[in-house]
Amino acid sequence: MKTIYTTLLCCCLGMMSLMAQQDKITLVIHGGAGTIRKQDMTPEREAAYHAKMEEALKAGYTILRNGGTSMDAVVETIKILEDSPLFNAGKGAVFTSEGKNELDAALMDGKTLKAGAVAGITTVKNPITAARAVMEHTEHVMLIGQGAEQFAREQNLTIVEPTYFHTPERASQIERIKEKERQNHNNKDQGAIPQDLRDYKFGTVGCVALDQYGNLVAGTSTGGMTNKKYGRVGDTPIIGAGTYADNASCAVSATGHGEFFIRYVVAYDIAALVKYAGKSVSEAGEEVLMRKLVAADGEGGVIILDKHGNLAMPFNSEGMYRGYIKADGKAHTFIYQNE
Ligand code: ASP
Repeated sequence: MKTIYTTLLCCCLGMMSLMAQQDKITLVIHGGAGTIRKQDMTPEREAAYHAKMEEALKAGYTILRNGGTSMDAVVETIKILEDSPLFNAGKGAVFTSEGKNELDAALMDGKTLKAGAVAGITTVKNPITAARAVMEHTEHVMLIGQGAEQFAREQNLTIVEPTYFHTPERASQIERIKEKERQNHNNKDQGAIPQDLRDYKFGTVGCVALDQYGNLVAGTSTGGMTNKKYGRVGDTPIIGAGTYADNASCAVSATGHGEFFIRYVVAYDIAALVKYAGKSVSEAGEEVLMRKLVAADGEGGVIILDKHGNLAMPFNSEGMYRGYIKADGKAHTFIYQNE
């Protein structure tokens, strides 16, 4: 009899804690940071961004609400953003200086600290699925280039022609950037990114999620930076730079000028401030994005989520496509500062 009571009590307590955790389910996304200004937007384009972010948030939320894992939620959410030409990930990725689309992605599981990443791939429709396959089906963390592509084929992931990723918008961006470069070269004003072209440089997508089992996951996917050199890899697939998750601290996904995020180990720095310095996600984000990176002139933003469902979305650029959804299922999406 005593055993039956004890079992029942354990079941009840288990159910109660699961219900309490269910209240904390949260999913946060970004769709890139940069010089995103209201005056450069049409109302239609603005609405398209909000609608796609809402669709992605709701897809992830449905998985979490139905008892799915943060891993599944992050991957499915990112796939929607990768499939949309609005963002610099998957279809609509930016062009390299050689006129190609070379994609990077990473995924990290906060429960096990397992991670998977791919870099410089050109034929995998959804790079985030390749990152997941690396994590789940190899003993490695990162595969690059042709090896990653071969592995993706062996895993039966969806393979496309490299031209699948092309969009006319991105093609005209690279043309304009190259034209500016030529002018700047003639003007002997090399180096700086012209202000009017800065926004075209970024646009990565990312997602962090907390499921009802209390597990955090972070994922990021990108075409990198417009006009990047052959073989350039940014922060996105580098664990600790553009992507990081640890149930003991937080999950982080970054967007911005990748070289700075690599050198300042941004995602891990934020997690370390939460874990070792006892900072909240907002304080840690503020410290790294608004102080360290601003002082270094490193442009970009991050999304951060801890195991209590606290989130922060700091960025030091003019705008960042971003949004979140919590247990009430209401999607909140934003583009500009002070929203
Ligand atoms: N962080 C990405 C990179 O440097 C670019 C971006 O966020 O848009 O590759």
